[in-house]
Amino acid sequence: MSDISKILNANLWDSDPELWDLIKKEKKRQVTGLEMIASENFTTMPVLQCLSSCLHNKYSEGLPGQRYYGGNEYIDEIEILAQKRSLEAYKLDPEKWGVNVQPYSGSPANFAVYTGVVEPHGRIMGLDLPDGGHLTHGFFTGNKKISATSIFFESMPYKVDPETGLIDYNKLLECARLFRPKVIVAGVSCHSRALDYKKFREICDEVGAYLFSDMAHISGLVAAGVTPSPFEYSDIVSTTTHKSLRGPRAGVIFFRKGVKSVNAKGEKIMYDFESKINQAVFPGLQGGPHNHAIAAIATSMKQASTPEFVTYAKQIVTNAKRLSDGLQSKGYKIVTGGTDLHLLLVDLRSVGLTGAKAELILEEINIACNKNTVPGDKSALNPSGIRLGTPALTTRNLKEKDIDVVVDFLDRGLKLAKEISNISGPKLADFKKVLHDNPDIQNKIAKLKDEVTKYSEQFPLPGYSEY
Ligand SMILES: *Cc1c(COP(=O)(O)O)cnc(C)c1O
Repeated sequence: MSDISKILNANLWDSDPELWDLIKKEKKRQVTGLEMIASENFTTMPVLQCLSSCLHNKYSEGLPGQRYYGGNEYIDEIEILAQKRSLEAYKLDPEKWGVNVQPYSGSPANFAVYTGVVEPHGRIMGLDLPDGGHLTHGFFTGNKKISATSIFFESMPYKVDPETGLIDYNKLLECARLFRPKVIVAGVSCHSRALDYKKFREICDEVGAYLFSDMAHISGLVAAGVTPSPFEYSDIVSTTTHKSLRGPRAGVIFFRKGVKSVNAKGEKIMYDFESKINQAVFPGLQGGPHNHAIAAIATSMKQASTPEFVTYAKQIVTNAKRLSDGLQSKGYKIVTGGTDLHLLLVDLRSVGLTGAKAELILEEINIACNKNTVPGDKSALNPSGIRLGTPALTTRNLKEKDIDVVVDFLDRGLKLAKEISNISGPKLADFKKVLHDNPDIQNKIAKLKDEVTKYSEQFPLPGYSEY
């Protein structure tokens, strides 16, 4: 083989052992741990095959039939297929809904929506980040604009009721009347209850705002019909495709099109989102679409339309409820008292732990989750809860009885954290010191980690391979 052919055709493991080793380590981490980060999942073999296909090589700026490059006959067909299947997965009439499958991920999708339909410094309202909203819904703090949504637009948060943990729709309406936003965002990254889209619609109609639903976390559950769909009441809907939907890391935007209403003179008023959103995606914000990801969207939307996917989505929710019941029976407080969805938020204040300590100890025993603010938290920097989700575990085929085992691991981990905290006192730095230096604690952690590892290894990942 010539030298150039060697580079072109080498296996990664031969050509780059340093990187290969790291990938194998990450794979091992995924196999030997329990993945409970609510936004994560293990995607399927067909999706992984699309992602590593030749489609990655092609430039295709523009939309199907209107490209800036040649050679796109099959790329056009693939994108049209992805569009068609995306509409089908959510049972949308192509006369009434359009879709853009090019956003690189959820955050660029959301920024394209704002860029398309809100003028610079126009007003946007979204659920506050510490209350379960997403950064892209406009997060800023007292002294810093954090999200670009708050830099290029004017954002104002709405909140959950600190007692119930549920969205305070009355206050939202009150604030919307004063702020007069152009867009209200209905979407969450950490909230365990279905949103009331009808109520959002009423509020939007009263203040003349568009309803933009961001179903990133729940789009798999929506496709399966196990949670209410935002489409009936929304003007625009965005989603990621890699969370409960279990597809590639990408974003999709749906928008209403066709006749909006007929005025008194009998004239048709049309929706005008289509060109605004398409142009915001390209050429406004993005360049060449990721065709390998678009193909993977096509195949994951096909999967999401099957009875097997409905079974999967139902099991996600069943597992989350089981997890919630199990933790409650062991004395933990769950925000809103439970879950209707794929995740729950544990309020650790009553057991005297912080989110950071809990996340740390669970990571030590190979359970991945994330610390999260709970309603009423004084500081967003020191959150009092952890967010736990079931989409990834459910992909690995854990059922209710397995979730009971997971509850036991979590409880033992958290009790160990409490034990450490009793020795170390409240400071995280002292906690870490005891965690790493105390031989008795180290023994206990090693034993629990070993049990979690052995347990996890029984549940294969989809498309199991070394990488
Ligand atoms: C995850 C998420 C996003 C952003 O998705 P990325 O792909 O991480 O950019 C946007 N909105 C919500 C509600 C999310 O949960």
